[in-house]
Amino acid sequence: MSSRPAPAWSAHVLPPDPAPPADLGIYVHVPFCISKCPYCAFNTIASDGTLHEGYVRAVCREIREAGARLGPLPAATVFLGGGTPTFLAAAQLERILDAVRAAFPPAPGAEITCEANPGTADAELFGDLRRLGINRLSMGVQSFDPAELARLGRAHSADEARAAYRLARAAGFDNVNLDFIFALPGQTLDGWRRTLDEAVRLAPDHLSSYCLTLEEGTPYWKEARAGRLALPDPEVQADFVAATHAELGARGYAPYEISNFARPGRACRHNLRYWSLDPYLGFGPGAHSFWGDRRWSDLGSIPEYIERLDAGRPVRALDETLRPEQRVFEAIYVGLRKCTGVERADFRRRFGLELDLAYGPTIAPLLAQGLLESDPQGIRLTPRGLHIADAVTPEFCA
Ligand code: SF4
Repeated sequence: MSSRPAPAWSAHVLPPDPAPPADLGIYVHVPFCISKCPYCAFNTIASDGTLHEGYVRAVCREIREAGARLGPLPAATVFLGGGTPTFLAAAQLERILDAVRAAFPPAPGAEITCEANPGTADAELFGDLRRLGINRLSMGVQSFDPAELARLGRAHSADEARAAYRLARAAGFDNVNLDFIFALPGQTLDGWRRTLDEAVRLAPDHLSSYCLTLEEGTPYWKEARAGRLALPDPEVQADFVAATHAELGARGYAPYEISNFARPGRACRHNLRYWSLDPYLGFGPGAHSFWGDRRWSDLGSIPEYIERLDAGRPVRALDETLRPEQRVFEAIYVGLRKCTGVERADFRRRFGLELDLAYGPTIAPLLAQGLLESDPQGIRLTPRGLHIADAVTPEFCA
């Protein structure tokens, strides 16, 4: 890539802080799993259940207090993620959702998602989730190959994943996502195509397909450093990406973000908020929030999170007000993750700036290198640019 030209900020005046939002996305982080997968760097623990009750009490308090401070505002989306939210008892999930509903009443037609692990799912659980008003389910399947599942340290089998999917449909879920991971150690392209083929034959509404990455400090990362774990090199990873797009595109799943594919009308509205810089509040240990020109996060330690909330003390770890140029870069950074990219009209509305005036010298070389495309609607990464988005988007950093 070329050297980075400076954006033309100095010639423009950005509008002041954004107006209060019309609605919100609500994320609740449930930091418990049955076991810890060796590649996972999320803020989660293998749980024996001891902290569950304290966590539920604490997170409900955090939600109530935020509602009193910032509400009432309608929640356009609610997402129970983690972790494995369904590791909690249904009555505990109900208390969390009651707290959300009281503080941030879901708007009519709100998307309410819960993540579930196929190994801990049965008909009763899915029935409970439906009764609680959850209308979208996201399951971490990762692979249909038993050897790959074992290598990933997953707590479920391929058969359990198939059975859980069918039970979810039988319980009435008409909006189901399945998560997969590719470029695993020893995985072949044919093996990945077999997993994709089986996934598509189940006919979920949405598919997420993530490239395995080595996160610092994880057992996988340590094994790789010790030379005991070999992952496919970047060219082979690019082949996996191309195979994913070909396979899913041919079967009616359109990509709408680097790792996400959906049938028409089934893109995840909650995650789209993140990539569109629409405001969201996150609750739970390590959860992040974004509101106007501010972003903040909660501390990550689960015992400390519980202790502090029980004592009526704040749990904020980071709290920053973004400078105008940071807000603009954030909009570009997350916007370019989407296949629709950054829309000129939206950019103008948010910042009072013309995209080409602000970023013309950055855009031109990326167009020339075939990493970006531009038309009257906006700019977006090409398939090649999407694959190396993490290397391309910093070019826009002021
Ligand atoms: S189930 Fe998901 S959140 Fe839990 S440890 Fe495994 S990858 Fe991480």
